[in-house]
Amino acid sequence: MLFDTHVHLNAEQFKEDREEVIQRAKDEGVEYMVVVGFDRETIPLAIEIAESHNNIYAAVGWHPVDAIDMEDADLDWIEELTSHPKVVALGEMGLDYHWDKSPEDAQKEVFRKQIQLAKKVNMPIIIHNREATQDIVDILKEEQAEEVGGIMHCYSGSVEIAEECVKMNFMISLGGPVTFKNAKRPKEVAEAIDLDHLLVETDCPFLAPHPNRGKRNEPAYVKLVAEQIAELKGVSLEEVSEKTTRNALKFFNIKE
Ligand SMILES: [Zn+2]
Ligand SMILES: [Zn+2]
Repeated sequence: MLFDTHVHLNAEQFKEDREEVIQRAKDEGVEYMVVVGFDRETIPLAIEIAESHNNIYAAVGWHPVDAIDMEDADLDWIEELTSHPKVVALGEMGLDYHWDKSPEDAQKEVFRKQIQLAKKVNMPIIIHNREATQDIVDILKEEQAEEVGGIMHCYSGSVEIAEECVKMNFMISLGGPVTFKNAKRPKEVAEAIDLDHLLVETDCPFLAPHPNRGKRNEPAYVKLVAEQIAELKGVSLEEVSEKTTRNALKFFNIKE
């Protein structure tokens, strides 16, 4: 039993064969997924997919790359959606300094507004971080995000920062990069952080794990991530699967 905590089945890469992709995931033991929507196009589709499948849930938020496009009405819309029975988290949100479409200040403002909303509706948050680790940690602290907690999605930072995030009530979610031969830091994090604080994800269609690196990623491959963690920790795949699934169910407050 596996829980892929971050999928983009709402991406156009899955338009043609989404149901087959979902079936392949089930065949590999991936029983639960959270589809992440992050703008006006992907949010409604995330909800639609969650509504039409058992054990598939949705997260709604505004991506930092598109921060300059977010209007007040969008935030109101996201707030309304948090009462939908299949919406289990707010996000993805955060900071992305790799792309320069949205200036850093605009990204920070949209990030803060979403943390404040999460606290208002009492819902955990999913954090997207690209080349912005320290600013993200600072904002999480300033906004007292530990009140709701969250997920550091596709975490690629240091062990030290991971430990700091765990103290702030955040889960560390590892994705495909932990399987890459040259990915030293995710491997160190997998070894150092207790299984109680770890989740697994694919972030599909991106970041396919080894040996599928460079191909379209899909939820079935989350097993490769769990296998790598098991190997690094010297425990069984069953233990990693069971534990990370329990963690996710508890975190998202999903009643079986
Ligand atoms: Zn992301
Ligand atoms: Zn994502």
